[in-house]
Amino acid sequence: MPKYDRNFTDELRERLSVVDIVGRRVPLVKKGQNYWGCCPFHNEKTPSFSVNEEKGFYHCFGCGEHGDIISFVMKSENVDFKTAITELAAQAGLKMPDYKPKPASQIAREESYYQIMSDACDIYQKMLLDSSGAHALEYIRRRGFNDDMIKKYRIGYAPKNNIIANKFINVKQDNLLATGMCRRGDYGLYDFFRDKLMFPIFNAHGQIVAFSGRSLDGSEPKYINTTDTELFHKRRTIFGFNFARDAIHRANRSIVVEGQIDAIQMQCNGFPETVAPLGTALTEDHISMLCKANRNIVFCFDGDAAGQKAAARACDIVMPFLRDASDVKFAFVTGGKDPDEVLKVGGPVAMQKIIDGAISLVDFLWNAANAGFNVSTPGGRSQAEKFIKQKTDKITDVNLRVEYEQEYKQRIFNNWHKWKKNSQNIPRIDMPTVDDITKNTVIFIVNKYPQIAERYGDFLATLNINFDENVPDINIDDKSAEKFIVSLKLQKYMARLQSEKKDLTAKLLAGENVRDKISALDAQIRDAQQKIDTLVTI
Ligand SMILES: [Zn+2]
Repeated sequence: MPKYDRNFTDELRERLSVVDIVGRRVPLVKKGQNYWGCCPFHNEKTPSFSVNEEKGFYHCFGCGEHGDIISFVMKSENVDFKTAITELAAQAGLKMPDYKPKPASQIAREESYYQIMSDACDIYQKMLLDSSGAHALEYIRRRGFNDDMIKKYRIGYAPKNNIIANKFINVKQDNLLATGMCRRGDYGLYDFFRDKLMFPIFNAHGQIVAFSGRSLDGSEPKYINTTDTELFHKRRTIFGFNFARDAIHRANRSIVVEGQIDAIQMQCNGFPETVAPLGTALTEDHISMLCKANRNIVFCFDGDAAGQKAAARACDIVMPFLRDASDVKFAFVTGGKDPDEVLKVGGPVAMQKIIDGAISLVDFLWNAANAGFNVSTPGGRSQAEKFIKQKTDKITDVNLRVEYEQEYKQRIFNNWHKWKKNSQNIPRIDMPTVDDITKNTVIFIVNKYPQIAERYGDFLATLNINFDENVPDINIDDKSAEKFIVSLKLQKYMARLQSEKKDLTAKLLAGENVRDKISALDAQIRDAQQKIDTLVTI
């Protein structure tokens, strides 16, 4: 079996839902945490084959078959590993990487890099307590770091001289250069980090792969990071992830903040599930890592324009990773503060309030469309609709995408098209009364789902129904209930348009010039019919 880059197979497992892949061959039903179906690998009539979306595997309690999407495709289609991942890669829209095994020499080289980074970190930690690091220590204490935090995050100080170049004279220069700790100048090697407060950056396994150095004399840029090396890829590394991983599992979510000091303060003040990208925008790799740990993410950004922009980008990137069990939210820290300051002033309670006030991704996108375009004009609405479609098109889970599209169609219908208002200009025609089944269904829905009653109150009031009547229970969830009301509303609307057209046609036959009115009406009828069709097909 050839060894593909572990990142690639991980990414496949990440991008593709095990429920989708298995669900194509085996009808699955959700019960509790898992999905269940009849095992495709042994003959059975009662389902003992379970699929766990979060963990990404299936297990048969009847025959013991067990595995992930890759082994499922291999076994169910009787193909080899390479064929299976090629097929899955095509489904995930990923390009197959070239197969390259890691040579022993590279493994040895990487080991030596890790050693250099760890030794350098020890040196920096010592220097923080040295007299030359006094200003760095004072700064970090002022930022609210106690001894335990300094120790846990292995914070240090890089002095003004070339301490690394000098202390590592027995290490191969090429290796030192390859870690990004030193650079070559006219007079030999010199240190990359000088007079900086040093935050080591760990990989997911807790090994130091890079450093982030904060300037202490007010010079810009505030932070410099190790440039990308064999060990460190900025776009694939999330600050704090090694510390947060277990907490993310326990909290059943991750929180993403903008800066590393924010991440540390969050982790130490009641939100251990917090991480931060490294002074850069979020990347797909960051989200992929987080989703693998847990699909529930709260993005917590500053409330300023930059924070909004970061949130928009996060929203963009997270779309392909959404599954029906993921809960992605956006929280904003307002008042020109960041999480660090909120914690300092208001403590974890104030921060909790901000996290609790996070809005859903559905609302975030809706707000962005409303804020970004002039939805009171047809042109603006058209742009806003395109904007939303562009985003929802990125959702790879087909069912979920359809649900999102439907959700926005409904919001657009209810909020932007304002046909309710327009309909006031159309001469009123008596509503036909509703039949008993429809009447009972409406009464049940109104009492069971007050939020739907509220949303469609104006329409429901026109139906002349006594909503206090006792009606038998029916089995209808909120989505279907809303669909029912919308569809009823459309039918009534349609009936009214048709009746109006009949009147106008009569006038036309009587010689009145109402052609324009009829064609305007026809357009409305087509529009309504389209909406009804969409409702029916979804
Ligand atoms: Zn089985």
